[in-house]
Amino acid sequence: MDKMTPEQRHHCMSRIGSRNTRPEMIVRRWLWRQGFRYRVGVKSLPGTPDIVLRQYSAVIFVNGCFWHGHDCAKFKLPSTNTEFWRNKFERNKLRDRRVYKQLHDLGYYVLVVWECQLEASRRLATLQALSTRLSEIYLDTHQAKPRAYGDFNQDLPSIAAEP
Ligand SMILES: [Zn+2]
Repeated sequence: MDKMTPEQRHHCMSRIGSRNTRPEMIVRRWLWRQGFRYRVGVKSLPGTPDIVLRQYSAVIFVNGCFWHGHDCAKFKLPSTNTEFWRNKFERNKLRDRRVYKQLHDLGYYVLVVWECQLEASRRLATLQALSTRLSEIYLDTHQAKPRAYGDFNQDLPSIAAEP
């Protein structure tokens, strides 16, 4: 059951690191329709994130569950050369963590969308959560705190607030 045919394995392998994979396009189309503007495949950033939203200081990785070793039903360790594959997935996961840390240290929010979260039954909830998260990030980074009603002296030095 957990055995891949050579064709399946070739299909999986041919997709590693590739751009414009279907899950990535689902996310990109959604963001575009929601009015988010972004760049793709920015090589100057660690790990070449799939989607970069500079206004939000955010990057998005759309990860395939197989190659990135997601702990979900889509991930199955191949039954042949198991040790080789186990090591490979561990290295992939370590590399991912290193890249996320580097981006974080550069001041980016790192968002990961998993392939399994884009399956039809979960897709809309995932995409809506992504939009919500980006809006929160925008408020965080732009300090757009809601002002109390009647706070019309906002441009004056706030003397009363000094300790
Ligand atoms: Zn998954």
